[in-house]
Amino acid sequence: MSNRLLLVTSLGGVMSLQGCIFCRIVNREIPASVVYEDDHILAFKDANPVAPVHILFIPKKHIATLFELQEGDEQILGRLQKAAVQVARDLGLEGRGFRLVANCQEGGGQVVFHVHYHLLAGRKLNWPPG
Ligand code: AMP
Ligand code: ZN
Repeated sequence: MSNRLLLVTSLGGVMSLQGCIFCRIVNREIPASVVYEDDHILAFKDANPVAPVHILFIPKKHIATLFELQEGDEQILGRLQKAAVQVARDLGLEGRGFRLVANCQEGGGQVVFHVHYHLLAGRKLNWPPG
């Protein structure tokens, strides 16, 4: 993590003074290795991969956690899942499988408070996760 000033938000997350890091990726204010984009969804490689395939899928709209979902957001999440399957298929994962997971709030392991789903694949994924 950089040595920029950080704020601990009321949700327990970490947000830089410049704002939500994933919104900044959406706005192309900071770089990311983008693998998929449409009007509502952006997908980019995780900066600290924990599997050979580790891609984050985010709504372009800022939603802090799954608890902040509003009426109509289910359409965005449906699109997000379809985009993840499309990327997985393009990567040749059909038949090999993948995991699509969202950490929610601090207790669920969420660190970045902008809803995101991790697409993980390319190694044996154990259950239950740690
Ligand atoms: P979570 O613990 O579910 O909130 O996951 C946040 C994920 O975001 C972690 O896997 C981080 O490695 C990843 N991450 C944080 N900052 C960046 C960034 N600038 N570019 C790509 N991935 C990031
Ligand atoms: Zn955001």
